Amino acid sequence: TTAQIGVTGLAVMGRNLARNFARNGYAVALHNRTAARTHDLVAEFGEEGVFVPTETAKEFVAALERPRRLVVMVKAGDPTDAVIQEFAPLLEPGDMIIDGGNAHFADTRRRERELREQGIHFVGAGVSGGEEGALRGPSIMPGGSEESYAALGPMLEKISAKAEDGAPCVTHVGPDGAGHFVKMVHNGIEYADMQLIAEAYHLLRDVAGYSPAQIADIFRTWNTGRLDSYLIEITAEVLSHVDAATGKPFVDVVQDRAEQKGTGRWTVQIALDLGVPVSGIAEAVFARAVSGHAELREASRELAGPSARPLDDAAAAAFADQVEQALYASKIVSYTQGFQQIAAGSEEYGWDIDLGAVASIWRGGCIIRAAFLDRIRAAYDTRPDLPGLLSDGDFAREIGEAQDDWRAVLVQATRQGVPAPGFSAALAYYDALRSARLPAALTQGQRDFFGAHTYRRVDREGSFHTLWGGDRSEVEA
Ligand code: NDP
Repeated sequence: TTAQIGVTGLAVMGRNLARNFARNGYAVALHNRTAARTHDLVAEFGEEGVFVPTETAKEFVAALERPRRLVVMVKAGDPTDAVIQEFAPLLEPGDMIIDGGNAHFADTRRRERELREQGIHFVGAGVSGGEEGALRGPSIMPGGSEESYAALGPMLEKISAKAEDGAPCVTHVGPDGAGHFVKMVHNGIEYADMQLIAEAYHLLRDVAGYSPAQIADIFRTWNTGRLDSYLIEITAEVLSHVDAATGKPFVDVVQDRAEQKGTGRWTVQIALDLGVPVSGIAEAVFARAVSGHAELREASRELAGPSARPLDDAAAAAFADQVEQALYASKIVSYTQGFQQIAAGSEEYGWDIDLGAVASIWRGGCIIRAAFLDRIRAAYDTRPDLPGLLSDGDFAREIGEAQDDWRAVLVQATRQGVPAPGFSAALAYYDALRSARLPAALTQGQRDFFGAHTYRRVDREGSFHTLWGGDRSEVEA
């Protein structure tokens, strides 16, 4: 049999993606550095479709119909380069290598350029949804050439998640590294969403005094409204879970040190380079870092805090409603910032990314899937040149309605000494955007004072410098 697609790298993600292709009627060639994984897959799931197990790179390439479609699902970084070096010499012009791993978009740009010289299409494709998504339908964010998408798109559309309106959660994001860039920002937004939810939990627990089981119920209620999302849903599951060994809430027996694999950090690093304030994502990455500083936290435990007055029952219920407002408002801000970063990346690299299409393919399959994304899609579809989500009438109105409660939540958090870096960074961004005048004018004055960096005036064109060390007269620079 010749296979229509091949998958190399058959750990959890590759194995499930291969099964997904097979279940959708495609003949799938299989390959893995360690052949045992290949044979295990066929032994366990061979009934699900047509698999062509192979042991060597040569056999694998020979099993594929032309132009070849070769999906690489190995550990990101050097292993991806090793696999490309192994396969590229065996391929012909027109063949496609699809990297579904979590590659850095700069690596994808480099690989795409190198392989293009050989006439090979390199498609960096972000895949979100974890193992379950890979099997039942992920959200897929492919970059690469238009030509490669023409040959690949229909297959990806078939295996991808479908949004509620039936639209496949895949689109050609843009050339070269555009897909992996968008996947990176997706993960950054995921960090921010998780942090905001964690802050809501922390406040409901330590300010309002609710138990994890009660908070799970609150999240379940929220999940029937505008916060309806996969992450809220699983949060309720985690919070209501009871540890079998101790009978305690599961959240109380897990060490409170959050780990990370790095895509959130990349998002922030790149945002710094692009000059895009993704403060919500940054606070999420930093909050994980703070949690991991065990010694510092231990040494700081005795630092003075406020004398907290826990809320009574009636106040707690009202507070919970306010937290919902704060969470929703902060979420609008982190998506505003994330989409801002995609727009900036698109501009910098000439990708011409359709932001509405990105929101659309995140509606299903991926970790941040949510009803909310349909609204973002609609906002960008109505106005593709929207300066930012906060300029959309509906979002502006909603965040305006939430802002009093949002502030009230942060007042309580501050009073009772519960950190809410995501909520407060989001509010600071909101207030900065609304401000008619920012203190940046003073910053410019300071820069001009110590470094003659010059400034612009509100009333005249040109750059100016004040002779600070002299008679303080102004000169045109
Ligand atoms: P891993 O990231 O754990 O990678 C294991 C696979 O990589 C195995 O098939 C392994 O082969 C292969 N491999 C490692 N080094 C080499 C090498 N030098 N040469 C050839 N093959 C090598 O697997 P996952 O399935 O978790 O993830 C695959 C990719 O998907 C990663 O890039 C990951 O970031 C990304 N991803 C993962 C998600 C998840 O939820 N896990 C979600 C979305 C993306 P061998 O069996 O021989 O060791």
